[in-house]
Amino acid sequence: MAERMLKFVSVEKGMPDKREPAARRADFDEIYGEFAREKAAEQAGRCSQCGIPFCQVHCPLSNNIPDWLKLTAEGRLEEAYEVSSATNNFPEICGRICPQDRLCEGNCVIEKGFESVSIGAVEKYITDTAFERGWIRPVKPRRELDQSVGIVGGGPGGLAAAEQLRRRGYQVQVYDRHDRIGGLLIYGIPNFKLEKHIVERRTKLLAESGVTFHCNVEIGRDVSLAELRQRHDAVLIASGVYGARDIKAPGVGLDGIHAALDYLVASNRVGLGDSVPAFADGTLDARGKNVVVIGGGDTAMDCVRTAVRQGAKSVRCLYRRDRANMPGSQREVQHAEEEGVEFVWLSAPEAFLGDRRIRGVRAHRIHLGVADSSGRQTPSAIEGSSFSVDADMAIKALGFDPEDLPVLFGEPALEVTQWGTLKINHRTMMTSLEGVFAAGDVVRGASLVVWAVRDGRDAADSIRTYLQAKASAQSLAAD
Ligand code: FAD
Ligand code: SF4
Ligand code: SF4
Repeated sequence: MAERMLKFVSVEKGMPDKREPAARRADFDEIYGEFAREKAAEQAGRCSQCGIPFCQVHCPLSNNIPDWLKLTAEGRLEEAYEVSSATNNFPEICGRICPQDRLCEGNCVIEKGFESVSIGAVEKYITDTAFERGWIRPVKPRRELDQSVGIVGGGPGGLAAAEQLRRRGYQVQVYDRHDRIGGLLIYGIPNFKLEKHIVERRTKLLAESGVTFHCNVEIGRDVSLAELRQRHDAVLIASGVYGARDIKAPGVGLDGIHAALDYLVASNRVGLGDSVPAFADGTLDARGKNVVVIGGGDTAMDCVRTAVRQGAKSVRCLYRRDRANMPGSQREVQHAEEEGVEFVWLSAPEAFLGDRRIRGVRAHRIHLGVADSSGRQTPSAIEGSSFSVDADMAIKALGFDPEDLPVLFGEPALEVTQWGTLKINHRTMMTSLEGVFAAGDVVRGASLVVWAVRDGRDAADSIRTYLQAKASAQSLAAD
């Protein structure tokens, strides 16, 4: 082993080639290229094959990272793919967009002074190669079962569950209110992090595996949840969280102030070739504008970087905490800075200025005080610290909360937590409604793709147990 592994002492951490900021600003293509075969093997060989791999412990899917790194280092890519895909339905997506600095790579224990193994880039390389070589084929269940499952939401949580259930032979139908399947992978996350054809090839594969997709169907409006429960033997709700948090400040209703997801959906639709009137008439286009984005999470980072690519005159990000305390990935901040975004740390909006249209944002400086019960320092405004910045467009990216789910689904008996997320039995993943399960952001609150995949897989296991018990009870009753 030693020959091919443990190379971290002699080989520096390497990533696939990253495009220059000037080139990145000019289009929406992904910013990283692909590893060449030798480079992937070399980088995988930096792993020291830990007895207790902390990378794996901190991967929400408990991916068997050391094994697929070793197989990659040995050039046994098809086996590496088998190991990697055994625990993850979408390794090439997670490899691209997981905040690895907070998960697997952030916990890689390579000795101090040496950088972590490039786990995400190798994971992406393995599965992209598997697609290229035709190793990834539609699921063929060993036998077809009569029982069916209706899934509300075609995001990563719903899709991971769909694939797992289809493997077991269940008839799976996915309902989504959008015209395309993929959830935030399609309409939230921009192309420069995840090109859409990567998501679309997965959706195609699922359709070829026998999963039926019903687009433009909103459960609770076009079809009731009660009706869905009649149609299927079990239901999974994986509908995400879409209630955008707002700002309370004078002038917040001025023209030119937008919710982050409206802005990103429009940009993604334009990239997909759709006609978007609010983009065509300039409302949701940042070209030539001074743009201010408020917030410090992944969504805010995607907005600033989208505005740069649309040709904004200037792009500023106002965040009330400092760099070390922001929720977004540090790697994304670095990319944004390279692309010309100015971060105004420790600042929060006080008022939006303008008569009918926004022309500026008045903000104040923030002092971070003592930590609260969650361990985060409490921000407070510094008196007399007001300052103004020019803005022709402001984007509110303050996070998401669930909508009123019992009302949305027309089911008062559907219990929610104090945060409005769906209440489940964490052992079975069943909601308060018999045979209705839930997974992903609608349970956790706004989270990560990798957690949605994990939940989707866990929910599929629970649904299978439930359906097996239901089938045996029915056959006993029939005897
Ligand atoms: P979603 O992806 O939200 O999918 C839910 C689906 O349900 C949607 O397609 C929706 O149309 C559908 N739906 C909702 N209600 C109904 C209904 N009543 N009837 C029918 N269909 C319905 N995570 C990362 O790991 N890395 C990132 O870089 C990252 N960047 C992000 C950037 C942005 C802008 C945003 C908003 C989020 C980002 N996330 C990122 C978070 C990640 O996208 C989510 O955690 C993940 O998509 C949640 O998956 P889900 O399946 O639970 O829900
Ligand atoms: Fe790391 Fe995410 Fe891949 Fe897990 S799924 S190994 S956290 S990149
Ligand atoms: Fe390899 Fe780092 Fe994981 Fe250890 S923690 S097994 S060195 S990737």
